[in-house]
Amino acid sequence: MNLRDTIRDIPDFPQEGILFKDITTLLKNQAAFRQALDEMINIARGQKIDIVVGIESRGFIFGAPLADRLRAGFVPARKLGKLPAPTVQAEYDLEYGTNTIEIHKDAIKPGMKVLIVDDLLATGGTAEATARLVETLGGEIAGLIFLIELKFLKGRCRLTHYPVTALIEY
Ligand code: AMP
Repeated sequence: MNLRDTIRDIPDFPQEGILFKDITTLLKNQAAFRQALDEMINIARGQKIDIVVGIESRGFIFGAPLADRLRAGFVPARKLGKLPAPTVQAEYDLEYGTNTIEIHKDAIKPGMKVLIVDDLLATGGTAEATARLVETLGGEIAGLIFLIELKFLKGRCRLTHYPVTALIEY
């Protein structure tokens, strides 16, 4: 199956000028969801992954089953104020203003091999901030996997130190 055919474009959401990639149409299709997870597993196969970090919130949907299949733990990277225990934080730029992402301080131990997962790579700000957090805690980034990459936004240029893979490119 061509996974691209299961993703729906929503123009001008959440604001004018944004073409939103709606993945709910992929997720509700059992064969498509499974294929996406299988393809992600194929990328990670052969590497020893200790922790999968999923980026809030759609990164959780792929990150958690991936962690289970890889026999790894799952760690959520969350938006500011959601995690209850002590955290490390990283700020990143949005089109207007900034955002902050957090990971629990005790979630990753030095030397752990970490795979970062999200649904979509746009400008790369979110993923880069998450990578910084993992490295602050001493984690070693084995790679970053995305379902979708919006190539024209050149997010990959901010992640040149790491292996980056996307299943679908626009
Ligand atoms: P960025 O930090 O610019 O790479 O943005 C990545 C995050 O924003 C991801 O977690 C996506 O879920 C979300 N995102 C950005 N642009 C889009 C888009 N066109 N369609 C759907 N989600 C998007």
